[in-house]
Amino acid sequence: MTNFWKTLGYRTVMDALHLTGAQRVLAPLTRGRGLVYMLHRVVGARDDEFQPNAFLEVTPEFLETVILDTRAAGIEFVSIAEAHRRLVAGEFANRFAVMTLDDGYQDNLDIALGVFRRHAVPFTVFASSGIADATCELWWLALERIIAENSQIRIDFEGMRETVPAGTTAQKNAAYERLCGWIGAGLDEHAQRRAIRALADWAGLDMAALCRSLAMDWDGLRRLAAEPLATIGAHTVGHHAVARMSEAEARDQIVRDMERHEAELGKRPEFFAYPYGGKLAAGPRDFALAAELGFKLAVTTRPGQIFPAHRTHLTALPRVSLNGLYQKRRYAELLRDGVPLALYNGFRRLDVA
Ligand SMILES: [Zn+2]
Repeated sequence: MTNFWKTLGYRTVMDALHLTGAQRVLAPLTRGRGLVYMLHRVVGARDDEFQPNAFLEVTPEFLETVILDTRAAGIEFVSIAEAHRRLVAGEFANRFAVMTLDDGYQDNLDIALGVFRRHAVPFTVFASSGIADATCELWWLALERIIAENSQIRIDFEGMRETVPAGTTAQKNAAYERLCGWIGAGLDEHAQRRAIRALADWAGLDMAALCRSLAMDWDGLRRLAAEPLATIGAHTVGHHAVARMSEAEARDQIVRDMERHEAELGKRPEFFAYPYGGKLAAGPRDFALAAELGFKLAVTTRPGQIFPAHRTHLTALPRVSLNGLYQKRRYAELLRDGVPLALYNGFRRLDVA
Protein backbone atom coordinates (compact mmCIF):
# COMPACT_ATOMS: atom_id res chain seq x y z
CA MET A 1 0.00 0.00 0.00
CA THR A 2 2.86 2.38 0.62
CA ASN A 3 6.48 2.33 -0.41
CA PHE A 4 7.48 4.53 2.54
CA TRP A 5 8.93 1.59 4.42
CA LYS A 6 10.83 0.26 1.45
CA THR A 7 12.06 3.69 0.42
CA LEU A 8 13.53 4.25 3.81
CA GLY A 9 15.29 0.91 4.22
CA TYR A 10 13.18 0.95 7.31
CA ARG A 11 14.80 -1.52 9.65
CA THR A 12 18.32 -0.27 9.00
CA VAL A 13 17.47 3.38 9.46
CA MET A 14 15.32 2.78 12.52
CA ASP A 15 17.98 0.68 14.21
CA ALA A 16 20.67 3.25 13.40
CA LEU A 17 18.58 6.10 14.80
CA HIS A 18 18.05 4.14 17.97
CA LEU A 19 21.61 2.86 18.47
CA THR A 20 23.42 6.11 17.71
CA GLY A 21 21.26 8.17 20.04
CA ALA A 22 20.27 10.38 17.10
CA GLN A 23 16.68 9.94 18.23
CA ARG A 24 17.30 11.80 21.50
CA VAL A 25 18.90 14.72 19.67
CA LEU A 26 16.32 14.92 16.88
CA ALA A 27 13.11 14.20 18.80
CA PRO A 28 12.64 17.71 20.27
CA LEU A 29 12.81 19.05 16.69
CA THR A 30 10.63 16.45 15.04
CA ARG A 31 7.86 15.93 17.60
CA GLY A 32 4.53 17.30 16.50
CA ARG A 33 1.70 18.46 18.72
CA GLY A 34 -0.46 15.56 17.73
CA LEU A 35 -0.37 12.27 15.89
CA VAL A 36 -2.92 10.08 14.22
CA TYR A 37 -2.09 6.39 14.45
CA MET A 38 -3.21 4.18 11.57
CA LEU A 39 -4.08 0.52 11.92
CA HIS A 40 -6.02 -1.94 9.80
CA ARG A 41 -6.42 -5.34 11.45
CA VAL A 42 -5.76 -6.38 15.05
CA VAL A 43 -5.30 -10.17 15.20
CA GLY A 44 -3.19 -12.83 16.87
CA ALA A 45 0.17 -13.67 15.30
CA ARG A 46 -0.07 -16.24 12.48
CA ASP A 47 2.66 -18.64 11.52
CA ASP A 48 1.83 -19.09 7.80
CA GLU A 49 4.93 -18.65 5.68
CA PHE A 50 3.11 -16.67 2.98
CA GLN A 51 1.67 -13.50 4.50
CA PRO A 52 2.02 -10.66 1.99
CA ASN A 53 -0.47 -8.49 3.89
CA ALA A 54 1.13 -8.98 7.31
CA PHE A 55 2.04 -5.30 7.34
CA LEU A 56 -1.68 -4.59 7.78
CA GLU A 57 -1.95 -6.63 11.00
CA VAL A 58 -0.77 -5.94 14.52
CA THR A 59 -1.33 -8.14 17.56
CA PRO A 60 -3.53 -6.96 20.45
CA GLU A 61 -0.43 -7.20 22.68
CA PHE A 62 1.50 -4.76 20.48
CA LEU A 63 -1.47 -2.40 20.35
CA GLU A 64 -1.64 -2.48 24.15
CA THR A 65 2.09 -1.74 24.41
CA VAL A 66 1.78 1.23 22.05
CA ILE A 67 -1.12 2.62 24.09
CA LEU A 68 0.77 2.32 27.38
CA ASP A 69 4.02 3.73 25.98
CA THR A 70 2.20 6.63 24.29
CA ARG A 71 0.53 7.56 27.56
CA ALA A 72 3.80 7.15 29.48
CA ALA A 73 5.31 9.69 27.06
CA GLY A 74 2.73 12.23 28.25
CA ILE A 75 0.53 12.03 25.16
CA GLU A 76 -3.23 12.04 25.68
CA PHE A 77 -5.55 9.87 23.58
CA VAL A 78 -8.48 11.92 22.32
CA SER A 79 -11.40 11.26 20.00
CA ILE A 80 -11.16 12.52 16.45
CA ALA A 81 -13.86 15.11 17.25
CA GLU A 82 -11.75 16.43 20.13
CA ALA A 83 -8.67 16.52 17.87
CA HIS A 84 -10.71 18.58 15.41
CA ARG A 85 -11.81 20.95 18.18
CA ARG A 86 -8.21 21.44 19.35
CA LEU A 87 -6.94 22.02 15.82
CA VAL A 88 -9.61 24.62 15.09
CA ALA A 89 -9.17 26.31 18.48
CA GLY A 90 -5.38 26.28 18.17
CA GLU A 91 -5.04 24.37 21.43
CA PHE A 92 -1.64 22.74 21.17
CA ALA A 93 -0.35 22.96 24.76
CA ASN A 94 -0.68 19.20 25.33
CA ARG A 95 0.37 16.55 22.85
CA PHE A 96 -2.48 14.33 21.71
CA ALA A 97 -2.95 11.10 19.78
CA VAL A 98 -5.90 9.78 17.76
CA MET A 99 -6.33 6.06 17.08
CA THR A 100 -7.74 5.12 13.66
CA LEU A 101 -8.41 1.82 11.87
CA ASP A 102 -9.18 1.65 8.15
CA ASP A 103 -11.62 -0.46 6.08
CA GLY A 104 -13.86 -1.95 8.80
CA TYR A 105 -12.46 -5.42 9.57
CA GLN A 106 -14.42 -7.75 11.88
CA ASP A 107 -11.44 -8.03 14.24
CA ASN A 108 -11.82 -4.32 15.07
CA LEU A 109 -15.04 -5.32 16.86
CA ASP A 110 -13.97 -8.76 18.11
CA ILE A 111 -10.45 -7.95 19.33
CA ALA A 112 -9.41 -4.27 19.12
CA LEU A 113 -12.53 -2.98 20.90
CA GLY A 114 -11.62 -4.97 24.03
CA VAL A 115 -8.15 -3.39 24.10
CA PHE A 116 -9.54 0.12 23.60
CA ARG A 117 -12.15 -0.41 26.32
CA ARG A 118 -9.61 -1.77 28.80
CA HIS A 119 -7.53 1.37 28.39
CA ALA A 120 -10.37 3.83 27.70
CA VAL A 121 -8.90 4.86 24.33
CA PRO A 122 -11.27 6.61 21.89
CA PHE A 123 -10.90 5.33 18.33
CA THR A 124 -12.25 5.83 14.82
CA VAL A 125 -13.00 3.14 12.25
CA PHE A 126 -13.08 4.36 8.65
CA ALA A 127 -15.49 1.92 6.99
CA SER A 128 -16.10 1.59 3.25
CA SER A 129 -19.81 1.04 2.68
CA GLY A 130 -19.05 -1.35 -0.18
CA ILE A 131 -17.02 -3.50 2.21
CA ALA A 132 -19.90 -3.53 4.73
CA ASP A 133 -22.23 -4.46 1.84
CA ALA A 134 -19.76 -7.11 0.57
CA THR A 135 -19.91 -5.59 -2.91
CA CYS A 136 -16.37 -4.17 -2.81
CA GLU A 137 -13.47 -6.25 -4.09
CA LEU A 138 -10.89 -6.62 -1.32
CA TRP A 139 -8.45 -7.31 -4.13
CA TRP A 140 -5.25 -7.36 -2.07
CA LEU A 141 -6.70 -10.03 0.24
CA ALA A 142 -8.35 -11.96 -2.61
CA LEU A 143 -5.01 -12.03 -4.42
CA GLU A 144 -3.32 -13.37 -1.27
CA ARG A 145 -5.96 -16.10 -0.96
CA ILE A 146 -5.75 -17.08 -4.64
CA ILE A 147 -1.96 -17.34 -4.57
CA ALA A 148 -1.98 -19.19 -1.22
CA GLU A 149 -4.37 -21.84 -2.57
CA ASN A 150 -2.87 -22.43 -6.02
CA SER A 151 0.51 -23.69 -7.18
CA GLN A 152 0.28 -21.72 -10.40
CA ILE A 153 -1.76 -18.71 -11.37
CA ARG A 154 -3.34 -18.67 -14.79
CA ILE A 155 -3.94 -15.17 -16.11
CA ASP A 156 -6.23 -14.71 -19.08
CA PHE A 157 -7.36 -11.13 -18.95
CA GLU A 158 -8.14 -8.72 -21.77
CA GLY A 159 -5.35 -9.93 -24.04
CA MET A 160 -2.87 -10.81 -21.29
CA ARG A 161 -2.16 -14.54 -21.14
CA GLU A 162 0.37 -15.88 -18.72
CA THR A 163 1.00 -18.60 -16.17
CA VAL A 164 2.78 -17.49 -13.01
CA PRO A 165 4.42 -20.16 -10.83
CA ALA A 166 3.28 -20.17 -7.20
CA GLY A 167 4.39 -23.57 -5.87
CA THR A 168 6.93 -22.54 -3.23
CA THR A 169 6.77 -19.75 -0.65
CA ALA A 170 9.41 -17.82 -2.62
CA GLN A 171 7.35 -18.20 -5.81
CA LYS A 172 4.20 -17.14 -3.98
CA ASN A 173 5.90 -14.02 -2.65
CA ALA A 174 7.29 -13.17 -6.08
CA ALA A 175 3.89 -13.81 -7.70
CA TYR A 176 2.18 -11.59 -5.13
CA GLU A 177 4.63 -8.76 -5.60
CA ARG A 178 4.24 -8.85 -9.38
CA LEU A 179 0.48 -9.26 -9.53
CA CYS A 180 -0.06 -6.71 -6.76
CA GLY A 181 1.97 -4.20 -8.78
CA TRP A 182 0.00 -5.04 -11.92
CA ILE A 183 -3.47 -4.93 -10.34
CA GLY A 184 -2.78 -2.18 -7.84
CA ALA A 185 -0.87 0.27 -10.01
CA GLY A 186 -0.57 -1.02 -13.58
CA LEU A 187 -4.30 -1.16 -14.24
CA ASP A 188 -6.75 1.69 -13.82
CA GLU A 189 -9.30 1.59 -11.00
CA HIS A 190 -11.96 -0.17 -13.09
CA ALA A 191 -9.74 -2.64 -14.96
CA GLN A 192 -8.21 -3.54 -11.60
CA ARG A 193 -11.55 -4.80 -10.35
CA ARG A 194 -12.32 -6.68 -13.59
CA ALA A 195 -8.91 -8.35 -13.32
CA ILE A 196 -9.34 -9.56 -9.75
CA ARG A 197 -12.85 -10.78 -10.54
CA ALA A 198 -11.50 -12.73 -13.52
CA LEU A 199 -8.78 -14.25 -11.33
CA ALA A 200 -11.30 -15.07 -8.60
CA ASP A 201 -13.57 -16.76 -11.17
CA TRP A 202 -10.64 -18.82 -12.42
CA ALA A 203 -9.72 -19.82 -8.86
CA GLY A 204 -13.31 -20.42 -7.73
CA LEU A 205 -13.04 -17.79 -5.01
CA ASP A 206 -16.28 -16.17 -3.84
CA MET A 207 -15.30 -12.50 -3.42
CA ALA A 208 -18.44 -11.57 -1.49
CA ALA A 209 -17.94 -14.47 0.93
CA LEU A 210 -14.32 -13.42 1.46
CA CYS A 211 -15.49 -9.91 2.27
CA ARG A 212 -18.13 -11.17 4.69
CA SER A 213 -15.61 -13.42 6.45
CA LEU A 214 -13.17 -10.56 7.09
CA ALA A 215 -15.21 -7.39 7.45
CA MET A 216 -18.04 -6.06 9.58
CA ASP A 217 -21.48 -5.81 8.02
CA TRP A 218 -23.82 -2.98 9.03
CA ASP A 219 -24.98 -4.83 12.15
CA GLY A 220 -21.37 -5.03 13.26
CA LEU A 221 -20.82 -1.37 12.46
CA ARG A 222 -23.98 -0.44 14.36
CA ARG A 223 -22.73 -2.37 17.40
CA LEU A 224 -19.45 -0.52 17.17
CA ALA A 225 -21.15 2.85 16.62
CA ALA A 226 -23.09 2.32 19.86
CA GLU A 227 -19.81 2.20 21.80
CA PRO A 228 -19.10 5.53 23.53
CA LEU A 229 -15.40 5.30 22.58
CA ALA A 230 -16.05 4.67 18.88
CA THR A 231 -16.50 6.98 15.92
CA ILE A 232 -17.36 5.62 12.48
CA GLY A 233 -15.84 7.54 9.58
CA ALA A 234 -16.25 7.24 5.81
CA HIS A 235 -13.85 5.52 3.37
CA THR A 236 -15.67 5.66 -0.06
CA VAL A 237 -18.05 3.05 -1.46
CA GLY A 238 -15.63 0.92 -3.42
CA HIS A 239 -12.26 1.58 -1.75
CA HIS A 240 -10.83 3.34 -4.77
CA ALA A 241 -7.80 5.59 -5.10
CA VAL A 242 -9.87 8.72 -5.70
CA ALA A 243 -6.98 10.67 -7.28
CA ARG A 244 -6.95 8.09 -10.08
CA MET A 245 -10.62 8.80 -10.91
CA SER A 246 -12.34 11.72 -12.59
CA GLU A 247 -13.63 14.36 -10.20
CA ALA A 248 -17.21 13.28 -10.91
CA GLU A 249 -16.40 9.66 -10.08
CA ALA A 250 -14.46 10.58 -6.96
CA ARG A 251 -17.34 12.75 -5.77
CA ASP A 252 -19.82 9.96 -6.46
CA GLN A 253 -17.69 7.45 -4.52
CA ILE A 254 -17.59 9.75 -1.50
CA VAL A 255 -21.17 11.06 -1.58
CA ARG A 256 -22.81 7.65 -2.01
CA ASP A 257 -20.67 6.35 0.86
CA MET A 258 -21.84 9.20 3.12
CA GLU A 259 -25.46 8.50 2.18
CA ARG A 260 -25.10 4.79 2.87
CA HIS A 261 -23.52 5.49 6.28
CA GLU A 262 -26.33 7.89 7.12
CA ALA A 263 -29.04 5.42 6.05
CA GLU A 264 -27.52 2.50 8.00
CA LEU A 265 -26.04 4.23 11.05
CA GLY A 266 -28.39 7.19 11.35
CA LYS A 267 -25.59 9.74 11.25
CA ARG A 268 -23.82 11.52 8.43
CA PRO A 269 -20.08 10.80 8.74
CA GLU A 270 -17.98 13.83 9.71
CA PHE A 271 -14.56 12.29 9.20
CA PHE A 272 -12.96 10.62 6.20
CA ALA A 273 -9.93 8.55 5.26
CA TYR A 274 -8.73 8.43 1.64
CA PRO A 275 -8.41 4.76 0.57
CA TYR A 276 -4.70 3.81 0.24
CA GLY A 277 -4.09 7.46 1.12
CA GLY A 278 -0.66 7.95 -0.44
CA LYS A 279 0.36 10.72 -2.85
CA LEU A 280 -0.91 8.85 -5.91
CA ALA A 281 -4.22 7.96 -4.23
CA ALA A 282 -5.24 11.37 -2.85
CA GLY A 283 -4.12 14.83 -3.91
CA PRO A 284 -5.04 18.50 -3.57
CA ARG A 285 -8.18 18.12 -5.72
CA ASP A 286 -9.43 15.45 -3.34
CA PHE A 287 -8.48 17.45 -0.23
CA ALA A 288 -10.65 20.30 -1.58
CA LEU A 289 -13.45 17.88 -2.44
CA ALA A 290 -13.50 16.40 1.09
CA ALA A 291 -13.70 19.91 2.55
CA GLU A 292 -16.47 20.90 0.12
CA LEU A 293 -18.47 17.79 1.02
CA GLY A 294 -18.41 18.85 4.64
CA PHE A 295 -15.87 16.60 6.35
CA LYS A 296 -14.38 18.18 9.46
CA LEU A 297 -11.14 16.23 9.13
CA ALA A 298 -9.79 13.86 6.49
CA VAL A 299 -6.69 11.72 6.86
CA THR A 300 -4.18 10.46 4.31
CA THR A 301 -1.49 7.83 4.78
CA ARG A 302 1.28 10.34 4.09
CA PRO A 303 3.66 9.82 7.00
CA GLY A 304 3.94 12.67 9.47
CA GLN A 305 2.81 14.27 12.70
CA ILE A 306 0.31 17.05 13.29
CA PHE A 307 1.70 20.58 13.63
CA PRO A 308 -0.14 23.90 14.20
CA ALA A 309 0.23 24.60 10.47
CA HIS A 310 -2.21 21.76 9.76
CA ARG A 311 -5.02 24.01 11.05
CA THR A 312 -5.45 25.26 7.51
CA HIS A 313 -5.17 21.78 5.94
CA LEU A 314 -7.76 19.85 7.93
CA THR A 315 -8.60 17.51 5.05
CA ALA A 316 -4.98 16.57 4.33
CA LEU A 317 -3.73 15.24 7.65
CA PRO A 318 -0.79 12.82 7.77
CA ARG A 319 -0.75 9.68 9.90
CA VAL A 320 1.67 7.43 11.73
CA SER A 321 1.30 3.86 10.46
CA LEU A 322 1.76 1.04 12.93
CA ASN A 323 3.19 -1.48 10.48
CA GLY A 324 2.71 -5.13 11.34
CA LEU A 325 6.15 -6.06 10.05
CA TYR A 326 7.82 -3.85 12.65
CA GLN A 327 6.07 -4.56 15.92
CA LYS A 328 8.88 -3.39 18.18
CA ARG A 329 8.62 -0.88 21.03
CA ARG A 330 11.68 1.01 19.87
CA TYR A 331 10.25 1.48 16.37
CA ALA A 332 6.97 2.72 17.80
CA GLU A 333 8.91 5.13 20.01
CA LEU A 334 10.79 6.53 17.00
CA LEU A 335 7.52 7.02 15.13
CA ARG A 336 5.94 8.68 18.15
CA ASP A 337 8.83 11.15 18.25
CA GLY A 338 8.40 11.73 14.51
CA VAL A 339 12.05 11.10 13.70
CA PRO A 340 11.77 8.78 10.67
CA LEU A 341 8.74 10.75 9.44
CA ALA A 342 10.74 13.98 9.50
CA LEU A 343 13.66 12.33 7.69
CA TYR A 344 11.27 11.02 5.06
CA ASN A 345 9.71 14.46 4.67
CA GLY A 346 13.07 16.26 4.56
CA PHE A 347 12.08 18.01 7.81
CA ARG A 348 9.14 19.68 6.06
CA ARG A 349 6.23 19.78 8.45
CA LEU A 350 3.52 20.15 5.81
CA ASP A 351 3.12 17.74 2.93
CA VAL A 352 -0.14 18.76 1.26
CA ALA A 353 0.73 19.32 -2.41
ZN1 LIG B 1 -8.50 1.34 3.30
